Amino acid sequence: MSSVKLEQISRKFIDVAALQQQRFTGIDDISFEIPDGEFWVLVGPSGCGKSTLLRIIAGLETATSGDIYIGDRLVNQVPARQRDVAMVFQNYALYPHMTVAENLSFGMQMRGINKSIIQQRIQDVAKSLKIDTLLDRKPKQLSGGQQQRVALGRAIARSPQVFLLDEPLSNLDAGLRENTRSELKQLHQQVGITTIYVTHDCVEAMTLADRIVVLDRGYIQQIGTPNEIYHHPTNQMVATFIGTPPMNIIPAIYHDRIWNIGDSKISCSSELATQLQLRNGQGLNLGIRPEYLTIVPNSTPDTLSLTVQTLETLGRETLLKAQINGTSTDLNLLAPPSTSGQFNDLPDKMLGKQLTIQLASEWLFIFDPSTGRRLFPPNT
Ligand code: ATP
Repeated sequence: MSSVKLEQISRKFIDVAALQQQRFTGIDDISFEIPDGEFWVLVGPSGCGKSTLLRIIAGLETATSGDIYIGDRLVNQVPARQRDVAMVFQNYALYPHMTVAENLSFGMQMRGINKSIIQQRIQDVAKSLKIDTLLDRKPKQLSGGQQQRVALGRAIARSPQVFLLDEPLSNLDAGLRENTRSELKQLHQQVGITTIYVTHDCVEAMTLADRIVVLDRGYIQQIGTPNEIYHHPTNQMVATFIGTPPMNIIPAIYHDRIWNIGDSKISCSSELATQLQLRNGQGLNLGIRPEYLTIVPNSTPDTLSLTVQTLETLGRETLLKAQINGTSTDLNLLAPPSTSGQFNDLPDKMLGKQLTIQLASEWLFIFDPSTGRRLFPPNT
């Protein structure tokens, strides 16, 4: 086991189309230190640079600049096979002509590990991953989930310093993905190997990580525990990327202690107006998570009026998308079972239904519409 430290890692790709549009391609100025034994998740939209960063740590890609340390060892010049890291990819990459047992032992044999130790490790790993009854099968005789467990087992059996996982669950169907995800978490608790896990799925990031690194367009947006990232996002990108359904963003125009939002008006406290030095006519983005919007029976001065666009019945709750009247802004709302009775109609009958909602103003975020920076609550 080992810590992993990145110091100002950059990788610039030459992409003519991107250069013409003055777009940067690659990753830039990435620095962080993962303490020994922690599980970190790199998350972000497609093309944000997650895989590039993981491949640089693995030694499969060379950084344009910056330093990488595994433990105390500077590994910039160390080839991949000597970095003592194990990588698991989305497509398993098992040897098709070998049995599960042979796939598990191959890496250890190549390192000249004693046969009886190899046998013991195969048994231990196979048991902990529940593949001990499959040791004589070939990969094509296994389901996708079983193949992915073998791939994980092969990596664990090597007892690497660092475990690198690139979207390892994305080929599995939803149910299997959820099971394998919680097994992976348990496995990490047992073996405690420093793990870096890449995904574009924010639920995986939230459920697996000790700490999450949110990337966008090659840059770090925020590093924090799942709770910090969810409750204290530093900008609009993080706020809307993490959370399902995502945080609602409501463009509003400020005027004399009032937020004007289409046909609705919401009051703004004088403390907030003073703190943010708000000017009449100023446009800002209000952010609020769906769980802090409540459907209320009557409109009052501080409510928003909406028109239902879509409705999904999830059983435990109903997910609604509704447009704020007088705007083109859609909001995500969650109607709990207590209020779901009023949404019992078939979804197409609900279309166009008028709703009134209240915002829990203590959970309101305010973002600068041009930079996406969080203005409120202020960074502490
Ligand atoms: P995804 O989730 O789609 O796999 P990602 O976040 O892992 O995306 P990367 O694969 O790391 O993203 O790519 C980051 C950026 O670098 C993208 O814009 C990609 O097109 C570009 N890129 C990656 N590899 C190369 C390469 N060999 N040559 C040119 N551009 C590249």
